[in-house]
Amino acid sequence: MASQDAAPDKLLLGAMGIAKEAQTPKDVMSRFGELLKSTYGIDQVIVKDKQGQLGTVDEFTINTGKPYVDNSLSSYSTFSELIRYYNEGFKCCMVLPIAKEGKSFGTVTLLSRNDQIFTQGLAEMLWVVSGLVSGEASVKFEKDKSLSLARYFDASFNSVLPQLLVEQKGAIVKANKSAMNQFDRNQKELANESLADVFDISSEEISRLMGGMPVSAYGRESRDRMFELTSNRINDSLFHVLVRDVSPIREAKAKTFLMDNSDVEVFIALDLNGRITWASENMERMLKVSKDVVIGKSFFDFVENQHAVREQVGSSKGTYSGHVSFNFGNDIEIGAKLTVLKGDGLMSCIISTDYDRFIKSLEKNFDDLVSLSNESIIRVDKSGYILSFNKSAERLFRLGKDNVGTQIYAMCAEKESQDRLTSSMAIARSNGFISDVFVNMLDLSGSQSIPCQQTIKAITDEKDAVVGYLVVSRELLTKRELEQAREDRNRLARDVEKLKTESELKSQFIYNISHDLKTPITNIMGFSKLMLTDDFGPLTKEQRDNISIIYDESERFMQLVKQILDVAKLSSGIVKMDLQTVKFKDIEENPSIKSLAEACANKGLEFRWIVDQEVPDITADPNRLIQVFSNLISNAIKFTEKGSITVKVYRKGRSVRVDVTDTGIGISKEDRTKIFKKFYQLKRGLVQQKGAGTGLGLSIAKEVVNLHSGSMSLVSDVGKGSTFWFTIPITPKMKKKTMQYNRSEIQEQH
Ligand code: ADP
Repeated sequence: MASQDAAPDKLLLGAMGIAKEAQTPKDVMSRFGELLKSTYGIDQVIVKDKQGQLGTVDEFTINTGKPYVDNSLSSYSTFSELIRYYNEGFKCCMVLPIAKEGKSFGTVTLLSRNDQIFTQGLAEMLWVVSGLVSGEASVKFEKDKSLSLARYFDASFNSVLPQLLVEQKGAIVKANKSAMNQFDRNQKELANESLADVFDISSEEISRLMGGMPVSAYGRESRDRMFELTSNRINDSLFHVLVRDVSPIREAKAKTFLMDNSDVEVFIALDLNGRITWASENMERMLKVSKDVVIGKSFFDFVENQHAVREQVGSSKGTYSGHVSFNFGNDIEIGAKLTVLKGDGLMSCIISTDYDRFIKSLEKNFDDLVSLSNESIIRVDKSGYILSFNKSAERLFRLGKDNVGTQIYAMCAEKESQDRLTSSMAIARSNGFISDVFVNMLDLSGSQSIPCQQTIKAITDEKDAVVGYLVVSRELLTKRELEQAREDRNRLARDVEKLKTESELKSQFIYNISHDLKTPITNIMGFSKLMLTDDFGPLTKEQRDNISIIYDESERFMQLVKQILDVAKLSSGIVKMDLQTVKFKDIEENPSIKSLAEACANKGLEFRWIVDQEVPDITADPNRLIQVFSNLISNAIKFTEKGSITVKVYRKGRSVRVDVTDTGIGISKEDRTKIFKKFYQLKRGLVQQKGAGTGLGLSIAKEVVNLHSGSMSLVSDVGKGSTFWFTIPITPKMKKKTMQYNRSEIQEQH
């Protein structure tokens, strides 16, 4: 170990040398480390030029700003690096912060294999010297920064933007080419001037600028040009000032101000694809559409006859001008003169609204409306003189051209009505309108009195001053007319009643007849079946075949009769539903459904029955429900040759939905609308489909679903298959309950 007494001098001398010679802060620090090493017999010096990581001794040292000493490293030292140093064979350690004015540059770590070398005195002395060195280093650091800034500045200084180097008080030190051009002076001339010679700028404004605030100023010689100055401080005395000519922006602002406030023209900018990129603020006021709505959209989409206009604009050189109709999607049609100026990459449109035409068209629309109205409308001026009237008024009051210009009060039947009309108009003048005014008016030809209920509306001009009134009259029904109306209503009610009875009688008749047919058919079926069993002696093949036909046909007949009976019952609307809790599991297990599944298998079709787990039990008539299932599944089987039939049951809101899907022939769009009608069977070509039954099945099924307050429909793809679906509410609605207690009025005979 070197003598510690001589060490401070050597250290100080060495440190000053380093401070002079070293080039970078890092260089300063590592040389300082080397110096310590040789002066104090330190074994290792580690220089770190960065903030230490969280929780390290470096971070701790930098944060406290004081040296950290551990004179007896062990495996219990506070920081993990210290333990590592111990493991590497070092006995003591000192970490010095290298910082100036609170700004840290890093740390120097001194490590020794000897015990206890970093005494309090040494630590303090080293701290002082390191402060000295790091002070030097930070000066170097600043110099470094200035150097690189100057290099950057040289590069950017010759850019197209006018730039100046200026001293604190505004004296110009240097100007770039662009600034020389802008102010029409050479470098030398400019360098003898101050900012105040070039710009109309006060000394306060200059100090504000040097303080970092942007300042706007007119040019001293070109007062029509406005510049924006921004400054960057380079060092204590030198500033870099960027000059921006903002005159074009100001001009544009002034122009758009005019555009935004124009009362005659709307300005729109388009890109070359015709998309709106900008619109003047008055768009909303003039064209009744917000510019935010149209920006980004294709301009020509708002133009009537857009293809022709687009073409004309496209083929015009420079300027297009023409009359077009606009509709900006708000259903207001606006005729206007359109001028399009084509520039590079941009089209400017000027829309000059044709206000006269616009207002005329509005007026015409209004007149059309008035003339079409069933109410009798008379327009009067503010003194009550008739200006115009619509067709209804003409008819009701027998008004003619002669009446224009006469007073409306003269049309009142008596003084009392006249007074009421006058005071009502006064109320309309202050309130805008008044309704339910009862006045007796006169039929002008026959002087017959017409009792009227009137609404009077004040008409105002754009300043809200009342300029006239609309008097809308509805004739009150006279006593005779009231009687007539009552009579008509009674007659209608009687007719309806009669029709209802007739239709009920018809239903009853069909029902009875069908019912009576059941007995003979049963007999025919019974006896033909008996004959087929050879009970009446053996049959020849021909006889057997014919009797089989009799049996099959009578069975079909029976089916038809049964369905007709069912339809008659259902459409009477007073069928009794046997509501119970229904489990879909039970339906699947039902013999009719089982046998359909079998029929499916026999035809080589796959049968799937899928019930979602979430499907609850429902309240319904189980037998009727099975009827619906059977109809849909048997139809599906009938009209499917290969593939599968799938029944899917799932919850849909407050209902359960059933889809019966087949992979059969499908149903055309036209047929889909008619398929639920009674007796409707589809004709495909001229030949009726094979397998078709009575054409009643679906209408019965739908009726049953309706009686449960559900709905039924289908989707289908011709040639690919159909899905018939229906829904049944989980709990029935009230309607069902009342129905449940209604006795069928059609008495079944057993
Ligand atoms: P039908 O007793 O004649 O089957 P429906 O009312 O049940 O009477 O059916 C009417 C017609 O609808 C049938 O004749 C048939 O043409 C058509 N149809 C019904 N279901 C299907 C289906 N799944 N695929 C194709 N056509 C069908």
